[in-house]
Amino acid sequence: MARVCSGCECNYFEFIQKFYKNNEAAIAYLRDHGALPLEVICPNCKNICRYRAETHSWYCGATRKIHHRKKLCHYKVSDYKGSLLSGVKMEPYKVICFANHWLSKQWDYETLKQCLGLSEATGSVWQRYFAEVTEHWVDNQEPIGGPGVVVDIDETLFGKMKHEEGKSQSQIWVFGGIERDSKNYFIAPLEEPLTENLMSLILKYILPGTVIVSNRWNAYSPISDHDYVHQVINHSGDVTDKENAKAHTQSVELLFRDVQEWTVKPGNRPQFYKQYLARLLFQQQHTHSNINHYFFREVARMYPPDFETEDADVKEESNDHENQESEVSD
Ligand SMILES: [Zn+2]
Ligand SMILES: [Zn+2]
Repeated sequence: MARVCSGCECNYFEFIQKFYKNNEAAIAYLRDHGALPLEVICPNCKNICRYRAETHSWYCGATRKIHHRKKLCHYKVSDYKGSLLSGVKMEPYKVICFANHWLSKQWDYETLKQCLGLSEATGSVWQRYFAEVTEHWVDNQEPIGGPGVVVDIDETLFGKMKHEEGKSQSQIWVFGGIERDSKNYFIAPLEEPLTENLMSLILKYILPGTVIVSNRWNAYSPISDHDYVHQVINHSGDVTDKENAKAHTQSVELLFRDVQEWTVKPGNRPQFYKQYLARLLFQQQHTHSNINHYFFREVARMYPPDFETEDADVKEESNDHENQESEVSD
């Protein structure tokens, strides 16, 4: 895992101390993590644009020659274009302090509403945005394995069984793989149809050449049709088989250990299972002091700043610049 930026590590309280009611620091933080642009290059003249803090916008202002005439480039773009803050009215410090609180184990609307002055509606909208970020992270985990690397895979069914309704809607299949030596792992929700989606998760998260060790589930049999070595656990074989089976069991126990607590938590609504799983996995894989760093790196990947085209919505703070290119005398 890449290291966090210098001075970036801070725990829950230090984060609040740094950023609460400090929009300037919050914007700098978002910039440092790629969630806002560090620099904007004018797509028309490749000039480095100037930042105007008053309007949160970038402005070109270069002169270029068009048909022997010099023209002033009025390219301008909002600092927030394409980013998480695009079209957002909430102050930047509130956005990052919201995330800091939402990423903590025990978060609640009341604290957010009171401390950040938000309505219930705003709270639930931002909760959904942030949930999408951790889901994006879950959907884009680093693949594991590689030639000769042993990866133990397993599937498990989480959630409560509702017998009276026949096929339960409150359950979710979860699939994962873990490198036997390094313990690097991935965990992903496994949606219906199981067999088909299982193979696409394997191809997505396990590199070619990997030695994949699994149980006897039929859905795993297509693995050997691909560029993998597939070993099926044989509990009743010779000593080598038994040792492999034991190591496999230990690996998969470790794999699902982090999500065990979630399986017994009552009241989680099934339609939000993927959200819950994503947030929980994100919390488990990061520490108190680096979780915000990785969260906002993911925000930057999901909402990359966009300055490829002009932003017509940017208000000019003075009227000596018109929207059209104006001529400049030689
Ligand atoms: Zn320009
Ligand atoms: Zn950082």
